[in-house]
Amino acid sequence: MKSVLKGEQIFEERPFTHILDHSQQGRRCHYCLERSEHLKKCTACGFLRYCSLTCQRCDWPVHRKECPCLKQVSPNVPLDSVRLMLRILIRTQLLEKEDHSTTETVWRRSFNDLMSHIDEIQEDPGRSQQFVQIVYTLRGLCQGQLDLPPVKQLMEVFGRVTINSFTICDGDLQSVGVGLYLGASYLDHSCQPNAVVSFQGQKLMVRALMDIPEVSPSNIFISYTDQLSFTEDRQRQLKEQYYFSCQCTRCQDNSLDRLMKSFVCPVPTCTGAVCRTEVGELLPCGSCGMNSYDESYRRKVEETFHHLIQDLQQIEQAKKAKDLDKVLSLCQKCLHPDTVSVLHSYNLLHVQALDRGLDVAIDLELWEQALSYGLQLIPLYIKVYPAASPQVGLLLLKVGKLELYLQRLEHALQHLQQGESIIRITHGRFHELYRQLSELISQCTDELRTHMEHSKPS
Ligand SMILES: [Zn+2]
Ligand SMILES: [Zn+2]
Ligand SMILES: [Zn+2]
Repeated sequence: MKSVLKGEQIFEERPFTHILDHSQQGRRCHYCLERSEHLKKCTACGFLRYCSLTCQRCDWPVHRKECPCLKQVSPNVPLDSVRLMLRILIRTQLLEKEDHSTTETVWRRSFNDLMSHIDEIQEDPGRSQQFVQIVYTLRGLCQGQLDLPPVKQLMEVFGRVTINSFTICDGDLQSVGVGLYLGASYLDHSCQPNAVVSFQGQKLMVRALMDIPEVSPSNIFISYTDQLSFTEDRQRQLKEQYYFSCQCTRCQDNSLDRLMKSFVCPVPTCTGAVCRTEVGELLPCGSCGMNSYDESYRRKVEETFHHLIQDLQQIEQAKKAKDLDKVLSLCQKCLHPDTVSVLHSYNLLHVQALDRGLDVAIDLELWEQALSYGLQLIPLYIKVYPAASPQVGLLLLKVGKLELYLQRLEHALQHLQQGESIIRITHGRFHELYRQLSELISQCTDELRTHMEHSKPS
């Protein structure tokens, strides 16, 4: 069995099939998923767009059958979930003629090997309803063009697709598509993973976050959820989406959860954390042991908590409505010194407000403000995420970029280098993101050198 070292690639894989996220229509190629200014439409359906003839040719075996289906409902466009199902059905029919496995032997798998969780899906009202709607739309799409298998078989396909598909992300962790990767669907979940998935276009890569002596599909774990969340929320998400409960060490140990629900201890000389439980009960301070809180402190905690919950909900609504000024003013309200003085810095509500604040300040080009939010986030991210995680790497990249722009060159260099050492592990030296980072580092080094030469006494 092969062994891998931290930062090495375990395997890479092309999708069994994939679709471009509808939000990326007109921006990226439907096949390679890369951004392009010169996309060419498929003249028959007028919907799929490709960056090159090569991409169009590569997609043709599947699109040849998909095209007339899309054409007959045009100008309507079916939902992404329906398009993915359609492509899977076409792909499995093609497979009967050609075998098309590209991964290493140990990761080789066929579509029919995937678990369908059909019993759980039948008992899940939300998923069952989604299935009924998809089948209804598929029938309209495929009428006279493509034979659909019987409903039982369709449900198995639906189960395999919903449970096993991956959201394909770009370097900034923004979703650009959905794909089914047969080898990678072997990978189980842990909230403390030993491997991480990244994408370059449609290609999926799995890299080791630590040394792994004997690599086998049963001892490689990736995280299906965002680690910046409470255990109960991760557990719920895993149960609802993948029908299992996680038994990892982080799920067994509640110390991080407590910290993420904490307020600052009212004892003036103490900076310890007072955890507020789900039911609003205040636990003894983790540091000084204080456990009799007066009424005014209790009231302040409750008020702060409920205001933050409300404001964060409004931030999400304002984000959806693309009202950036409103998002910013709500973030500023959440991060007002009066509020922050009550919150423990690891409190998830605080982290979320900073997180939204950083993004919106960058969008509004308020560089100083963005940098201040980014700098505050670094220690919090490092606490919550595993040492080498794409989220921490990307945050360091963002902060370094801001500092470079604002000419804080020494700090910029330090953060960019820290980011580089993480992205080298999570994405590898050949990833676009790593190249971007290396360029920023050499730009920063050059500017520092020029700066020092100019400041030399003559
Ligand atoms: Zn392309
Ligand atoms: Zn077409
Ligand atoms: Zn877990």
